[in-house]
Amino acid sequence: MGAMTKSPPSTIALDGPAASGKSTVGRRLADSLGYLFFDTGIMYRAVTWIALDHDMNLKDEAAITELAERAEIDIRQPSQDDGRACDVVIGEKDVTWDMRSGDVDANVSVVSAYAGVRKALSERQRQIGLRGKVVMVGRDIGTVVLPDADLKIYMDASAEERARRRYSEIIERGGTADYDEILSKIIERDRLDSTRAVAPLRPAANAIIIDTDQLNEEQVYLRVLQMCK
Ligand code: C5P
Repeated sequence: MGAMTKSPPSTIALDGPAASGKSTVGRRLADSLGYLFFDTGIMYRAVTWIALDHDMNLKDEAAITELAERAEIDIRQPSQDDGRACDVVIGEKDVTWDMRSGDVDANVSVVSAYAGVRKALSERQRQIGLRGKVVMVGRDIGTVVLPDADLKIYMDASAEERARRRYSEIIERGGTADYDEILSKIIERDRLDSTRAVAPLRPAANAIIIDTDQLNEEQVYLRVLQMCK
């Protein structure tokens, strides 16, 4: 018999505001543990993308809720090596990058504030999360989707630092970006996400908070990995 080894936490909730680096760190963590990586923001973005694509009125809560209840969002293995973690396919259209557009960024918080939308999507997320061996990333995973998660982490950073990171990401992908515009949009999205009535963005009472302002991606990753050992 060897020394007692503690098995790593099976359900890991990783929450935080826009561009806090949670997806990058969560993806690496899931890879190293051999877990499923599940970015829940994709679901809210996909519903928003469909609504915009169909010229729906985003203020029509009943229609948007109905859309969230029946939307078929297909998440597949990545078909291209362009920085994507997965392909997001809606009705045979690859929307992986369209879903990250400024238009979706600007409207997703309206969609995600609707109680019925959250109920439909978080129920699907919970079903996947409860199977375990999962790193689930979002805003309300530790508070609402998986309140009994084995490990809860809340990654934070100042809006300025997050805007800098988002700006560099876009430039590295070969795009063009305006730092001030990114910053004001991040601040606005944080405001909407943290003031909504249902499942607002906030750390769970028992979450470990990591302030990443002074840390690079590697340092954050190592810190999170350490928590799993
Ligand atoms: O994480 P990401 O920036 O892709 O999320 C997009 C939007 O989806 C957030 O700004 C938020 O409004 C919503 N969201 C949410 N709850 C989650 C994940 C994302 O409300 N668990």
